[in-house]
Amino acid sequence: MQQLVVQVYFDLDTALHTTGNLRRLGVDKALARDASGQWVLPATTVKGFLRERAEVLLRTWGHPVCTGPEPATMCDDQTLCLVCRVFGNPRHPSALRFQDGHPLDGFGEASFVRSGVAISRYRRAASPQRLFFLETTAPMPTRWWAECTGYFPDSGAAKMAAALVALAARGGWAIGGGKARGLGWIKEVKVKATLNGVEIPEQDLMPFWQAWKEGRDVAED
Ligand SMILES: [Zn+2]
Repeated sequence: MQQLVVQVYFDLDTALHTTGNLRRLGVDKALARDASGQWVLPATTVKGFLRERAEVLLRTWGHPVCTGPEPATMCDDQTLCLVCRVFGNPRHPSALRFQDGHPLDGFGEASFVRSGVAISRYRRAASPQRLFFLETTAPMPTRWWAECTGYFPDSGAAKMAAALVALAARGGWAIGGGKARGLGWIKEVKVKATLNGVEIPEQDLMPFWQAWKEGRDVAED
């Protein structure tokens, strides 16, 4: 088996919000934290961000790609689209395991609380617009890193997965919640992929990007 590890470094321009499970006094949506209380970029957020970007990019280039996260609109077992081959779906587990992302440098423990008004999805709804409070990191640039690991039968499949993760990571402009409110805006993303501990050079990923851009599926070559 070939071990692939992909590290993604997020350089954010603005504060970040990802909703965690813990409750905090005075806020409706608290930041996600780990057991020690440190902020995290949850694995589900990282994976969801990358999958969504991969879907959008490949569809733009004419690839038949299914739409998550509803199981009914995703690939069945018989034929898997490019995205499901790498990120999996409810019927086909992903070879890649994502871990929570962490802050790269200590940017303080102090969080901020923003207020906002929840607009009803139904414009005719009589319910009054609700004021809510959202906890975010401090309003300054932050850097995070996240990692995923997977085992593949051959190096070609591992490199294809690395190519799609790297492509998706670079294709995003914001991560987490509150994008429309200016939260989680991405300045730069760097990706480092290693195969059995050896870094994969970018020129090994380029043939995949070129083929996908031309609407070809290299796996079928
Ligand atoms: Zn699919």
